[in-house]
Amino acid sequence: MLKVAKFGGTSLADAKQFKKVHDILCNDEERRYVVVSAPGKRFKDDNKITDLLYLTYAHIKYSVPYGSILKVIEDRFNQIKNELNINTDLEGEFKTIRENLDKKCEEDYIVSRGEYLCALLMSDYLNCDFVDAKDVIFFNYDDTINKEKTHKKLSELLANSNKAIIPGFYGSYPDGSIKTFSRGGSDITGAIVSNVMGADIYENWTDVSGFLTADPKIVENPKQIKHITYRELRELSYMGASVLHEEAVFPVRQAGIPINIKNTNEPENPGTLIIRDDQAGEDYADGDIITGIAGKKDFSFFHIHKEHMANEVGIIKKALEVFEERGISIDHIPSGIDSFTIVLPSNSVEKVSHQIVEELKEKCKTENVQVYRHISLITTVGIKMAYRPGVSAKLFTALGSKNINIRMIDQGSSEINIIVAVEDKDFEEAIRAIYDAFIK
Ligand code: ASP
Repeated sequence: MLKVAKFGGTSLADAKQFKKVHDILCNDEERRYVVVSAPGKRFKDDNKITDLLYLTYAHIKYSVPYGSILKVIEDRFNQIKNELNINTDLEGEFKTIRENLDKKCEEDYIVSRGEYLCALLMSDYLNCDFVDAKDVIFFNYDDTINKEKTHKKLSELLANSNKAIIPGFYGSYPDGSIKTFSRGGSDITGAIVSNVMGADIYENWTDVSGFLTADPKIVENPKQIKHITYRELRELSYMGASVLHEEAVFPVRQAGIPINIKNTNEPENPGTLIIRDDQAGEDYADGDIITGIAGKKDFSFFHIHKEHMANEVGIIKKALEVFEERGISIDHIPSGIDSFTIVLPSNSVEKVSHQIVEELKEKCKTENVQVYRHISLITTVGIKMAYRPGVSAKLFTALGSKNINIRMIDQGSSEINIIVAVEDKDFEEAIRAIYDAFIK
């Protein structure tokens, strides 16, 4: 069994966290390829190293002396080194960094140094190989990944290594200069390494034990999600926070490699396993019908009504053009016989909703256009609800029994989720009611 383990910033914030990572890696020889982020926050108001590096670059860009800010970064790395009692040549590394900074190097080079130095320290601490991401992750000039070259070099360099530490977040352009992914991009590095090396599992270590079935700010002590499919995850993360970089999912999903979200501070907890939809039926058939509940407040409805609309061809297209011309994206279009509603986040139409109403009236040739605000959307997700009668009945009963009015219902034919719209004032109560009915 081959495991690729990626550790996020909070898992590497100080020497204490490095020790936990050390134990996690030494306890399991199958964890052979390890991707690290830069040290993150040690406490709530602390700084992430990557943020400080972006700030260093801003100093240089505006010709403000950067010495003191770089010193803060250097001190943090030195503190880790000293507490771990290792002898990485940080002095030499920072000398090189200063020389490059004085030569006005690129932003991507500077901000990648957090991961680079973190990986150097970790490889010295674990006494294992260091593989620089610039030598194994290759970008094309259009910022896509050069898959062939990456595959070739990564597999060549890692094949001979029993345990290797690879800095996340960056790679290099054909000319050798550093190129970073977008923020949080170490997740992507981990996914690429997993894919190329044919890992059996991609462990993503963070500071939470995977996903919860509902937001803990709304539901007290919600259950943890044991298994979730990629499609369910997409539905849930669209409606709320996710602990994974979106693009990180594709390389491993394609290869059918499960992702295990694990907690560095609680390594015994099994965390959440993200699996492919076609794997959900067999090995993972246990557990609740509903995988999770998520929602967002502050949507708007544009409701368009016109007598005999049902006989008119192209009226929805005309209405959608009003939004398209402004580059506004739409979430849902529930429709009736002589009416339909366009549902979208209020902030995308904040300053233009009056104009939009007028344009809709004109384009659709009706006076009957209304806007409703302060609407919440709640999605109840579960791949196992497909072809199972009674799920929506239970959901609506749960809301009805709490006297919560449902403003809209949307269920795609794939039956992986049911979306309901309620007034913002009922949002929290509605989530609790659904949770109690299905998961509690
Ligand atoms: N250190 C980078 C960031 O803060 C990348 C990462 O942590 O994945 O965005």
